[in-house]
Amino acid sequence: MSSSIRLLPDLLINQIAAGEVIERPASALKELMENSLDAGATDIAVQLEGGGVKLLRVRDNGKGIAKEELPLALMRHATSKIASLDDLQRVDSMGFRGEALASMAAVAQLALSSRTAQDTHGWKVEAIDGRISEPVPSSQPQGTTVELRELYFNTPARRKFLKSDSTEFAHCEETFKRIALSRPDAAFSLQHNGKAVWQLPAQPIAARIAAILGDEFGHAAVTVERQVANLSLQGLAALPAYSRGTRDAQYFFVNGRFVRDKVASHALRQAYQDILHHQRHPAFVLFLDMPPEQVDVNVHPAKSEVRFRESQGIHQFIFHTLHEALSIPASVGEPDAAD
Ligand code: ADP
Ligand code: MG
Repeated sequence: MSSSIRLLPDLLINQIAAGEVIERPASALKELMENSLDAGATDIAVQLEGGGVKLLRVRDNGKGIAKEELPLALMRHATSKIASLDDLQRVDSMGFRGEALASMAAVAQLALSSRTAQDTHGWKVEAIDGRISEPVPSSQPQGTTVELRELYFNTPARRKFLKSDSTEFAHCEETFKRIALSRPDAAFSLQHNGKAVWQLPAQPIAARIAAILGDEFGHAAVTVERQVANLSLQGLAALPAYSRGTRDAQYFFVNGRFVRDKVASHALRQAYQDILHHQRHPAFVLFLDMPPEQVDVNVHPAKSEVRFRESQGIHQFIFHTLHEALSIPASVGEPDAAD
């Protein structure tokens, strides 16, 4: 190994970063769907082939990207979402790191087509081996289409870690469901190998939850709704009759973002502890909302972890809200200190 220090070429930097941001097709799908939502899309269509490895296409009707900015969108640390550290502290978009598209462009064949409301037609750029082509006209309706082909074709070590098409598809479907649950006001569709899997119109949250988790969950669930100062927890939590052997029906969102959080999980488990056998897992769809400056979402590139500024207060708030909703006598459990 050479002992001289050198700067890595951009393509290699992006390929290394891709290992963190784009772990598998489902992570690419998450980034693309979040970009669509950030662009104000109300209709998002996902088409996959071969578990998303062969083809992953996301089309939206969002505000689009102007021709001059198309190449920029594919560059690392290029973002329209934040400009300063202050912005980062109250970020309300799903993205802000400006690295998802650049990472994808480094590990897949990527085509980006877009048309803004001002354009008379769309424009398309492609990234081939890390080089970005000049924009060419494309027949694109207003909005954006991103197409990824052959994920990890140029990084075989990574590609080897991908599982079977059906496993990768299952991860993509889970990602799709999480995002669809977080935004019932938008329409979503999902196709795999030419077959329609999900077709969800814009609908009230209760209908969206029923569509995704099924009527059985709805019948077993109680409504959760509580607001204390600037904290709010809303959603549905199933009574033990609907408990599961796995964690596959646990959806917890913080400010619209699906997260896996230890503080929340612990509080929820504790709220269920007297009514649920310890080997069973509760099922819930819960939305925690709070001022953005009270939660740090920039903990991990995929933003699936968060850090609460007042984690103890959050724990108590979640515990008490659930405890009450599940109608467990107030004498058991934590002392009342959250409110
Ligand atoms: P980030 O989302 O963190 O800004 P990305 O690499 O995901 O970084 O996207 C880079 C930029 O490209 C975004 O800031 C946005 O301006 C633009 N962009 C990406 N996807 C879309 C889309 N579907 N519609 C409109 N603009 C988009
Ligand atoms: Mg993004």
